[in-house]
Amino acid sequence: MQQALKWLFASFLSLTTVVQAMAVDGLSVEQYQQIKQPGLDKPQHEHSDIAPLLALHQQNALFRFSQLGLSAQGTPVWQIDIGTGPIKVLAWSQMHGDEPTATAALMDLLNFVSAPEQKNWRDNWLNKVTLRLIPMVNPDGAAANSRFNSMGIDINRDAKALQSPEGQLLMQAAKAFKPAFGLNLHDQNRFYAAGDSNKQTTISLLAPAFNEAKDIDASRKKAMQLIGDMADLMAEQLPGYLGKYDDTFSWRSFGDTFSGMGISTVLIESGGYPGDDNRQVARRLNAQLLVLSIESIASGAYLQQTLEGYRAIPFNRDGGIKDVLIDNIGIAINGHDAIVDVALEFDLVGAKQARVRDIGDLSIYGSYHRFDATGLRYQAPKAYTLTKALTLDKTKYLALLREGYSHFSGDASLLTNNTDWPVVLNPKGLSDTSPQRFRHATFLLANNEGVQLALLNGQLLDLRNGLILYPLGT
Ligand SMILES: [Zn+2]
Repeated sequence: MQQALKWLFASFLSLTTVVQAMAVDGLSVEQYQQIKQPGLDKPQHEHSDIAPLLALHQQNALFRFSQLGLSAQGTPVWQIDIGTGPIKVLAWSQMHGDEPTATAALMDLLNFVSAPEQKNWRDNWLNKVTLRLIPMVNPDGAAANSRFNSMGIDINRDAKALQSPEGQLLMQAAKAFKPAFGLNLHDQNRFYAAGDSNKQTTISLLAPAFNEAKDIDASRKKAMQLIGDMADLMAEQLPGYLGKYDDTFSWRSFGDTFSGMGISTVLIESGGYPGDDNRQVARRLNAQLLVLSIESIASGAYLQQTLEGYRAIPFNRDGGIKDVLIDNIGIAINGHDAIVDVALEFDLVGAKQARVRDIGDLSIYGSYHRFDATGLRYQAPKAYTLTKALTLDKTKYLALLREGYSHFSGDASLLTNNTDWPVVLNPKGLSDTSPQRFRHATFLLANNEGVQLALLNGQLLDLRNGLILYPLGT
């Protein structure tokens, strides 16, 4: 609605020819598809992913590149200045190395800004705003897929101590540039729901506090007003998937520290969306929010916002979202029958093990994947002991699962899996006569006709059609 009104407003202005079309066009989904940087639809981004893109953009006179400095391990951290206007905006990404989503969005933004057909759009703000981008503040953490820098320091808890080279660089950039606005770009955990809903917070926003009392001064008020504009965009693009990040004052953090330095700081957190492993929905929304921020800051449109838009955003509800929900499983303990929902959680790094997370009435939760097991009952896991070489093709594997074997024990080298189905070998911590919290997510689901589905390390294999119902991951 807001966007439509803005469009009408812009059309009206161009009809009257009093003013050139204002920069209130935003970045549409269609436009986004054209400028989306290929090659970044993956779970992690390292310096080597963006270095060639930055080298290309460095040829463009629109962009003023300079090396801000080096990470602890000697990788360059770049800053890119765009525009010459008096209102300065600093945006930085991936100070937590394993939070790459917004770095891809910054690459998209560079493509959009430099697109030849966006000349009019650019000209509307290049003399009003100076934008400074610092993509990937923590390249060492990115290379290690780690939140921390190579010294083990959480850069976002180093704003006061300033012992990490990367934290020093960010503070140095802020003090030299003196931005009016700061856009602090992160990824958040995938288990956040938007308030009491069962929807993911694909984006969460915050105007960080600068003291325990969470006072609102003129600078923080502007950040809240800009977030009001962002909330309008989210309501158009993905209603219900916006949350507010925890607003507890965090003295050591950059956002809170910058907020205390009079920088109107907005925290933008990218989160999950069903069936979107690599957070491409959040990435696109980031690009749209960045374009909106430029437009709104350049035109002063955000000043029209009351604080109600900000206040109305529901807080994140941690644990409101589960990786997988299997609803209505029949269980029996000591002759006592019950119907329960079971939530699974994936350990996405390292061993990629899935475990049972919660049991009971889980109807208040959302999930990335959901299966209704009505009419099916839990059947305890049972090991097939390897005593001689065994080659699994689909027929053989299905036969074993139907016989009630869920996994294999013994000498792993005896087993050859020629199917593309997961195999569970020598699992530790299995559930017993009923599913149990924090145990391995491997068991069977059966009815009176026998085993119908096998849960194999969190993945559901439907024996009736040989299909894995969802991939391991989010
Ligand atoms: Zn973070």
